[in-house]
Amino acid sequence: MSLYETFLQNILFPMDAYRSGRGKLFKYLKEFEKSQFLSREEIQELSWRRLKTILQHAYDNIPYYRKSFDAAGIAPADILSENDLLRLPILEKRQVQDHLDELVATNWSKDDLILDQTGGSTGTPVKYYYSSDRLISRKAATYRHNRWVGWDICSKSAAIWGASRDFHPPIKFLNKLRNFFFDRQIMLNTSTFNETDVLEFNETLKKYRPKSILGYANALTVFAQVLKERNIPAYNPYSIVSSAEMLTSENRELIENVFGCPVFNRYGSRETSVIASECDHREGLHVMAEGLYLELVIDGRHAQAGEMGEILVTDLLNFPTPFIRYRIGDMAVWSKKPCSCGRGLPTLETLTGRVTDFLITDDGSLCSGASLTALVVAKRPELKQIQIYQERQGEVLYRIASGKNHPLADNDLNFIREKSALYLGKGTKIAFEFVDEIPKTASGKSLFSISNAAPYKFTKE
Ligand SMILES: [Zn+2]
Repeated sequence: MSLYETFLQNILFPMDAYRSGRGKLFKYLKEFEKSQFLSREEIQELSWRRLKTILQHAYDNIPYYRKSFDAAGIAPADILSENDLLRLPILEKRQVQDHLDELVATNWSKDDLILDQTGGSTGTPVKYYYSSDRLISRKAATYRHNRWVGWDICSKSAAIWGASRDFHPPIKFLNKLRNFFFDRQIMLNTSTFNETDVLEFNETLKKYRPKSILGYANALTVFAQVLKERNIPAYNPYSIVSSAEMLTSENRELIENVFGCPVFNRYGSRETSVIASECDHREGLHVMAEGLYLELVIDGRHAQAGEMGEILVTDLLNFPTPFIRYRIGDMAVWSKKPCSCGRGLPTLETLTGRVTDFLITDDGSLCSGASLTALVVAKRPELKQIQIYQERQGEVLYRIASGKNHPLADNDLNFIREKSALYLGKGTKIAFEFVDEIPKTASGKSLFSISNAAPYKFTKE
């Protein structure tokens, strides 16, 4: 570790954490570092206790839950085992979109509500609040999971990332300054990029020497593919974290071979931050069980280990707008055996969810389907769900399930045309098709963008 890193980690970071989080960041980080090694049963007990607390809080203080629990004929005191949870209603994204005001705790100060919205790659935008305390515990959780793969606080990192809004917060100058001295992350924005960008960023990486690289699974794959085809040696970091999209074993192998380092899979969402990620043993993705209660359900019951189920997530630490049994839209399988690292956090072995192809722009660059769908739906929530289909270069078809706003107003369609021109080039023709819903594939994947024209294919079954 360099002298500067030691200074950052031991002096500057603690000062900053203390100032911004009144010491809570350390409290959480210390707590999570310790609790991960509790036994499986102890962690289960901790999660269950927090779950009972949040259920009671929701019933007492949140009009939406009071109504929906009453309608289901169940009160928090009736929940005595995991099976009883099945009687509680599932929270759909659409319900959050339509009832946000009723989902806010009446006993929570309005000054402590941070408004956020999805847009990562979820297909359907959702607005929600969290508390400043939850912001800090989420940060601490991310730090803990980063540290599993040697990515320490304040060490240099790089991002090969498609969601530009994550990296361009409002106060640009101060953020840049902060990033330069403190967060130390450089970025290749893969919302749209081409081979030249890959080659240039590879050189930038070699000069900057980040310890870890965080990337969209598909962008990392294309990055590796481009370098491999041209026989150009890649920068060799200590670790790579793949997130935001499904990582297939084939693509993991390709990225590892090209970059010469292990790739760690991570699963998260904007609503909940990191949900699960691999530790250095890579025997499954450890769930952030101190802050999230995960259920996998199939046919109205909980899935057994080894059996695919739909993910329902309950946030145990977000009191102003807790999501309870929130259907996130992905599927997973509980691991059959615990990870040999000794952490008691439960593990997931397979994840199935969001899948996107890159689209090809009018000049032959690649456009991240995840980024474009996210941008469009984040700005136009009334679109509900979209899928972008591309048969050949120079045209795309938007399939839109707009629910009751069907068909869309002209200004919404113009908005899509405008954004598409920005991402796909003015030479790309845009067409629309209105549908009732966008079905998942037989194996449960949601395809947000499909391209038969781009050189790399991710949506094949
Ligand atoms: Zn482990």
